Amino acid sequence: MTNPLEPSQPATAWDPQTLLVAGGRPAHGVDAAVNHPVTFTSTFHSQGIAAPGEKVYARFSNPTWDPFEEVLGQLEEAQLPALVFSSGMAAIAAALQLVPAGGVLVMPSHSYNGSLSLSKELADAGRLSVRPVDIANTEEVDAALEGADVLWVESPTNPMLEVADLPVLLAAAKQHNALSIVDNTFATPLLQRPLTLGADVVVHSVTKYLSGHSDVILGAVATSDETLHSRIHGYRTLHGAIASPMDVFLALRGVRTLSVRLERSQSNAQVLAERLSQHPAVSGVRYPGLPGDPGHARAQKLMNGFGSVIAFEAGDSEAAADAVIEKFGLITGATSLGGVETLAERRARHASEPATVPTNLIRLSVGIEAVEDLWRDLSNALDQI
Ligand code: PLP
Repeated sequence: MTNPLEPSQPATAWDPQTLLVAGGRPAHGVDAAVNHPVTFTSTFHSQGIAAPGEKVYARFSNPTWDPFEEVLGQLEEAQLPALVFSSGMAAIAAALQLVPAGGVLVMPSHSYNGSLSLSKELADAGRLSVRPVDIANTEEVDAALEGADVLWVESPTNPMLEVADLPVLLAAAKQHNALSIVDNTFATPLLQRPLTLGADVVVHSVTKYLSGHSDVILGAVATSDETLHSRIHGYRTLHGAIASPMDVFLALRGVRTLSVRLERSQSNAQVLAERLSQHPAVSGVRYPGLPGDPGHARAQKLMNGFGSVIAFEAGDSEAAADAVIEKFGLITGATSLGGVETLAERRARHASEPATVPTNLIRLSVGIEAVEDLWRDLSNALDQI
């Protein structure tokens, strides 16, 4: 009988949809479990000087991380397993330490507000300087890369859904000897794989689509570069933002259904974005799947789908947008995204949101409910403002 704890066979030939389901499984064998067990331990039996690969202590490694890291690494087409962190922000913090002391970081002005706040904190402490850019404006980014050390890309951006010309920007970063890091949370590896387009590092808020059920906070970093991998691994071990084994188990369970969840939520989002554009109480809809959206042509060319986050301006004030969210019965007014349930949030309620995000902008993370139920809830609320 095959040992069920042996690593699963390499899955390089599989379609990503198969990889999601079949990757990171115990080897087949009579009585073998189909899932790896969750290992709850803080330490491992060991003696003397640790041999290479010996586990030693659960801040260094945990067998429950391995299948998740293997699958995510393969999904991103990294040559190495991904590295799981306790949150997306922990992964982002680890990636940002790759900016050399006193270095220059080029960053989208509409990045996720946590990434913006952390880079500002580092800049205020004199650790680095930030050059904010409109990531959809390739010429502007190219100009900002002069003398820069790291290019940070988020595409589509949160919450403005701007789409970057990823291959061109990544090539420009290389030309300027800048390291490139892509936050791939919104697209997921099913819609775009930045490492295959030349990115050095990918970060994820695993909390969102990868886990998919709004029940864990987790993050991850993927890279094919041994030196960067070792630096990020070393950072994780020393700074200690490690993932709970139970959360990683739940995340891998969520990953199994990513393609079917995304298929449904994207098709729901397309329908809702089209209908929202026709609603008299809605003044602007951002969704790359709409033919009139500024990011449409680029997303169509570069991505395998348009994702399932929509941003729209409701009424003419923040009070109107708040009233819409209050009137929802099915849709949940809450921050976060990428779960099976539809969530809505007026993003400018956060003081850390850039001032250029309209105050009445609602970010709608579309879930997998029946689309007509979602539309009834949305239109009912909008009809009342
Ligand atoms: N990156 C993006 C694009 C996000 O939307 C978020 C959270 O909303 C994060 C990173 C941070 O992830 P976490 O909340 O898991 O720390």
